[in-house]
Amino acid sequence: MSEKKVSRGYISSTLSCRCPRCREGKMFRHPITISLKKNLEMNKTCPVCGQPTEIEVGFYYGTGYVSYALTVAISMASLTAWWFLIGMSTEDNRFFYWIGANALLLIFLQPLIMRLSRSFWISWFVKYDPDWKNNQPIDVSERLNPDQANNW
Ligand SMILES: [Zn+2]
Repeated sequence: MSEKKVSRGYISSTLSCRCPRCREGKMFRHPITISLKKNLEMNKTCPVCGQPTEIEVGFYYGTGYVSYALTVAISMASLTAWWFLIGMSTEDNRFFYWIGANALLLIFLQPLIMRLSRSFWISWFVKYDPDWKNNQPIDVSERLNPDQANNW
């Protein structure tokens, strides 16, 4: 239709794990997979705008808090759904079945949760730049120590 492509919004770009700076390039190398190591393999820099995906030593360490929050949110949603669809009672074990079902759900969603945690995390540190084509990403090379990469 029009020449100018409408840029992605914050939510859709973050949920699809795109670079927060240009909202175009994909941060992860492979499609989502159960191989946890492969699942978290990221492009060193955004393939579209060159934004580094690791901006300081141990950058993704804080994602533990994000995945915790996501896990709580998913559990609350599944509890609510269970309550309405299946119900809870003190007379039977339906609550314990929910605990089991929710645990399985969280294990199943783990690759996605880990990716989303990283995507949200970097989106709070790297701002969207509508003019990314003309600007250079901030040079972070002095903040990185290649010997210590992935060493935590
Ligand atoms: Zn980018």
